[in-house]
Amino acid sequence: MPEPRILVLGAGPAGAATAIGLRRLGYPVTVVSDWRRFAAVEGVSQRVLEGLRHAGLGRALSEAAMPATRQVHWNGEQLHMNREYLLDRQRFDRALRDDLARAGVAVVEGRVREVLRASGHQVRLDDGRHLQADFLVEARGRQAPLAADRLRGPETVSLLNLWQAEPGAPASAVQSLDDGWAWMARLADGRCYWQITLNAEGLPGKAALPDYCAARRSESALVAALFTARALEPAQVHARSSTAILAGECVGDDWIRVGDAAMAVDPLSGNGIFQSLSSALQAPVVVNTLLRRPARASLARQFHQQRVEQLFLRFARMGRDFYAQEQARSGQPFWARRVGWPDKQPLHLAANWPSVAVARRPVLRDGWVDEAEVVVTADQPLGIWHLQGVALAPVVRALLAGQALDEVMGNQPQEQRMMLRRWLAGQGYA
Ligand SMILES: Cc1cc2nc3c(=O)[nH]c(=O)nc-3n(C[C@H](O)[C@H](O)[C@H](O)COP(=O)(O)OP(=O)(O)OC[C@H]3O[C@@H](n4cnc5c(N)ncnc54)[C@H](O)[C@@H]3O)c2cc1C
Repeated sequence: MPEPRILVLGAGPAGAATAIGLRRLGYPVTVVSDWRRFAAVEGVSQRVLEGLRHAGLGRALSEAAMPATRQVHWNGEQLHMNREYLLDRQRFDRALRDDLARAGVAVVEGRVREVLRASGHQVRLDDGRHLQADFLVEARGRQAPLAADRLRGPETVSLLNLWQAEPGAPASAVQSLDDGWAWMARLADGRCYWQITLNAEGLPGKAALPDYCAARRSESALVAALFTARALEPAQVHARSSTAILAGECVGDDWIRVGDAAMAVDPLSGNGIFQSLSSALQAPVVVNTLLRRPARASLARQFHQQRVEQLFLRFARMGRDFYAQEQARSGQPFWARRVGWPDKQPLHLAANWPSVAVARRPVLRDGWVDEAEVVVTADQPLGIWHLQGVALAPVVRALLAGQALDEVMGNQPQEQRMMLRRWLAGQGYA
């Protein structure tokens, strides 16, 4: 069988992780991408750094991430000082290309103008070049054209301001405001970023934004503490939409959406890169199944779509709960809109043994999407297959059939027995 031509649109973290994962499975892959058109810095946690390394993006990390101490001013309190890593996005994006090259992925620099369906996918670039693909990975982030969105959060804009000051120790801070919130960071080389996130409606016109933002900074004691007086002058401003968006269909038989192109979260949950990686890390196995085991295509599509949707809702609820912590401002329109979205369902549903069941669901097995018996709970509707190596469905099935726990666990080692007991107790099994 000839090798299918796989084309990935976009070389952000999601496109890069998917392309490297497909290379690791032996597929020839080409990535086509433009460069990010503005300077940005983003904060990530240790967990994201580990995810990036695992995805083969270690070079990108070592070049672009620097640790910084972070202050949090929320709900009228200075909550804590902790640490986050500041990612210089332009550097990071450049180093992603190096990671791609080292993994053997061909990268075409260019801007995609149009994607047509004509015996596969025909991709037309701004400079007139054409690329042909059998399988398309859409990873153009928030710039990917949306066929139809399935869910959209309150319309939100982030105004990112950048100016240069003296070099110093890296630091960052986040602060709630009556009509939104601000995140700010100072890099070691003296670059300073201040980003205010607001309702998208009612903002001043583009030309007035630098003065508007400078005036907003002058009201903040945190800005005065973190930056020099230069912060009070108007700076370069870049407006970015930060509305949470879940795309409708995220996968077909010969295409898949990953990263922000599939679901983009509100930056308050601070996990955009983590979330974009989550959908990208599962994508290579889904693509492998779609290409090589077409009989399982519908299972593979179900796997990707359901996981994207579940992840989106989980992060949306997490964002909602951050907003809800700001009780002092709960009556302000910005906050009132966000504490009720996407719904009122708690982030984690309470344990309830009667709702625990065994069901068949798609799972990942040996590089393919397959189907297996898993245990479904109210909190884990997609099911749990293994718990630290122990297949859970046979245990739960036997308990539901009335067998005694000791009998069911039979000859499991002591450590596994304890782990199963703890898990069952956590599900309300008495
Ligand atoms: C205001 C704001 C603040 C954020 N802050 C954080 C944060 O602090 N921490 C965090 O973890 N996440 C943050 N995020 C989220 C993070 O930026 C994204 O989740 C992440 O970059 C998504 O990765 P991606 O690979 O899906 O898309 P992207 O990183 O957006 O990559 C898409 C790539 O596609 C390219 N591209 C786009 N259109 C075309 C085209 N037509 N032709 C060719 N190439 C194209 C782009 O140039 C880019 O290289 C923030 C997002 C916003 C909006």
